Amino acid sequence: MEMKKEYEVVWNNFISLLKNRIAIVSINSWFKNCSIYEIKDEELDGKKIKIITIKASSDYIKEALKKRYLDIIEELMENILGKQCVINFILPNEITNINEAVDKHNVINSGSKNDITVDNTQVINNYEKNINNYENNNILEKYTFDNFIIGESNRLAHTASISVAEQPGRLYNPFFIHGKSGLGKTHLMHAIGNYIIKNSNKRVLYVTSEQFITDFTNINMKKSTDYIQEFKDKYRNIDVLMIDDIQFLEGADKTQREFFHTFNNLYDLNKQIIISSDRSPDDLKLLEERLRTRFSWGLTVNIYPPELELKKKIVKNKLRGQALANMVSEDVIEYIASNSENDVRHIEGAVTRLYAYSAIMNQQDIDLKFANEALKDYLKKSVYMDSNISKIQKAVADYYNITVKDLKSKKRSANINFPRQIAIYLCRNYTNESFPKIGLEFGNRNHSTIIHACDKIKNDLKENKKLAEVLKEIKDSIN
Ligand code: ADP
Ligand code: MG
Repeated sequence: MEMKKEYEVVWNNFISLLKNRIAIVSINSWFKNCSIYEIKDEELDGKKIKIITIKASSDYIKEALKKRYLDIIEELMENILGKQCVINFILPNEITNINEAVDKHNVINSGSKNDITVDNTQVINNYEKNINNYENNNILEKYTFDNFIIGESNRLAHTASISVAEQPGRLYNPFFIHGKSGLGKTHLMHAIGNYIIKNSNKRVLYVTSEQFITDFTNINMKKSTDYIQEFKDKYRNIDVLMIDDIQFLEGADKTQREFFHTFNNLYDLNKQIIISSDRSPDDLKLLEERLRTRFSWGLTVNIYPPELELKKKIVKNKLRGQALANMVSEDVIEYIASNSENDVRHIEGAVTRLYAYSAIMNQQDIDLKFANEALKDYLKKSVYMDSNISKIQKAVADYYNITVKDLKSKKRSANINFPRQIAIYLCRNYTNESFPKIGLEFGNRNHSTIIHACDKIKNDLKENKKLAEVLKEIKDSIN
């Protein structure tokens, strides 16, 4: 059903305002297939208001919009329409039901939503459908597309996963996701599963390859026809099969053979098969050739290690909603992101530790120094490590016959300030450390002080030929 022209104008207006507020990917995920079904005027306590009914493409989308975006939809619609707005949602199947009911009874729809008859059997069917769908499928509800954070390194895997979830068995079959541990493969598989369960009555089954091996070994041990039937029911009487970490099937030759038959059976019936692995199909050397060939029939996507930006987003997301979130400075986020491993669990673990430490120490203000202290055993390197910075500091202090402690102190007398500026300049130019880190190493001085020191020495060097020699001498003394 097409949207009325005037609704279309409101909707387009709404989407363009929304672009300033939330990420484009979120708009594409949640709002793309929605439209305005109806806008009605009503009176509430003598005030004229608008009742806007948004058509959501699925129940899943509807719930997400209600849960996450209701406030923003209301706010932007009020901006556009200039009146207080109340937002309702409607699903495509409810619209058909309304039209059928209208046809059947040949009544004129008075426009009030109380007149809408919804077919009760449909509701019951949906209910039963969902019960069946959640039975024994091993899908974890906590992993959804909603809480998967997207960056360059996982964008393709995420987009392809959504396509598979929307049209299981039709687009990419099999769908093969590979990447190192902790990059979100399992998360994406469950997200696909959750999406399919919510939006269709397809039967989904998620298993790890260990589970598959165990099930297969059991039928061989027990050898009763009951078990064989049970196995077949479990693995063939489904619409979507996901096998996680298929690399563990390497070496399990008999199980591979059975998996081959299961694969063929499902594939021939256009059932969706989703596989994950820590390696690409080509690198699964111990897997039968014919399986590897089959894996490459569909779509293979790689999840790459997260880039710095994505790591920062993950840190920020983990901080979100926590009481101390506002106490954590941008420096700290950068510090965690650039020093944690690529495994997303490790990144999230750093944030958890930071919080725990701040609770123990009863410290509210989480700055770089504090974070460094809290995470020094956890992150792969720490700013206090015996770095080049400390070598430079030592060399400068020796040259000017002062102490490293002086360099880090608050003292501002010329005999200390100038060497300090030299040391800062050398750190900036001869190490890869960032301004915040250098600042931290020089008595927790802020960015601007560090930048100023570097500029100052740079200018001095232009006029003072002797200074270049001094710098060279200091550098040479660093071993
Ligand atoms: P893999 O299966 O690739 O080893 P997982 O899917 O188990 O990795 O991910 C490890 C943990 O990191 C899970 O808690 C998962 O929710 C989280 N995670 C991984 N990638 C993301 C992401 N892009 N956004 C949010 N959480 C993520
Ligand atoms: Mg996994």
